[in-house]
Amino acid sequence: MNESNGEKRTEIGEIGEFGLIDQLASQVSTYHDSTIKGIGDDAAAYAVGDELVLISTDMLVEGIHFDLSYAPLQHLGYKAVAVNISDIAAMNGTPKQITVSLGLTSRFSVEAVEALYEGIRTACDAYKVDLVGGDTTSSRSGLIISITAIGSAKKGEVAYRDGAQNKDIVCVTGDLGGAYAGLQVLAREKQEYLANPDMQPQLDKYSYVVGRQLRPKARMDIIHEFRDLGIVPTSMIDISDGLASELFHICKSSGLGVAIYEDKLPIDQSTYETAAEFSIDPNTCAMNGGEDYELLFTIRQDDFEKIKNHPDIHTIGYMHEADRGKVMVTRNNNTVALQAQGWKHF
Ligand code: ADP
Ligand code: MG
Repeated sequence: MNESNGEKRTEIGEIGEFGLIDQLASQVSTYHDSTIKGIGDDAAAYAVGDELVLISTDMLVEGIHFDLSYAPLQHLGYKAVAVNISDIAAMNGTPKQITVSLGLTSRFSVEAVEALYEGIRTACDAYKVDLVGGDTTSSRSGLIISITAIGSAKKGEVAYRDGAQNKDIVCVTGDLGGAYAGLQVLAREKQEYLANPDMQPQLDKYSYVVGRQLRPKARMDIIHEFRDLGIVPTSMIDISDGLASELFHICKSSGLGVAIYEDKLPIDQSTYETAAEFSIDPNTCAMNGGEDYELLFTIRQDDFEKIKNHPDIHTIGYMHEADRGKVMVTRNNNTVALQAQGWKHF
């Protein structure tokens, strides 16, 4: 905090993104009974009859969330939609419509915007969502893509961050850490290209992790399976900032602690290999890397039978009382406190 001319100035970095959101949220009041869920979850929810309408918005900014020197525009368009669909999935909802708003610099041609839209349309087809509007403006300092996704959920089926109960089982889908490992590969290829522009990037060996970074999927397949299996997660969040940060959100919202087991973290072989090459701990990629867009959720112990043989759902731990903390049980049976770093943009 600095004092100048008697006015208080607090740097955003001092309280962080989540601190800022909490501070703004504490000053907001709502007027409508139909507003069921406001700030603080993956999507907001309002009631229309027996259904909840879900709304989520996410902005991608050039130089912060993506680098056009290695993110092809088609993939970027796809990813921008997928990360919003992922927030609807994280509510156990079904996405229906999106709007797309763009801030474009003079660097962009009509063809470039069309390439971006090709990816956006591919994602709309994949997730069966309708593009129903948006906004287009110019930008001075890089490309900005802001997408809003609208979806729905039945009232009894919505999954919030705050519904986890003591002793619930903690599950994640897919595998973790790949997107972060892929980012390391892309950043290295960029440096090598800058040093020697004639060199062709060698990405074949890394196609899985690079794909995880450039073209993540929203796990709507899992949401459909929940319905087939008769499961309603007690809480859920998508993994955009790393497993540790998302566990913190579930714990804080639900007023509980958590224990997860290091040897249960699902990490792909190619993530292990890439992490080893960069001398980074694959567990750190999974816990603090981010952008995997898998789902983290809790279920009642009674539901364990329904998911125990599912090849893409992994049980990693359980919820416990808040005073037992947020811990990881390591391979050699030590209990260590979880550290949530997440992404720091400020
Ligand atoms: P996610 O990672 O799932 O997209 P965020 O961490 O971006 O979620 O946001 C957490 C919550 O804070 C959401 O409910 C979101 O709508 C809300 N939020 C984020 N930024 C703002 C803002 N500037 N004003 C009001 N609410 C915000
Ligand atoms: Mg989210």
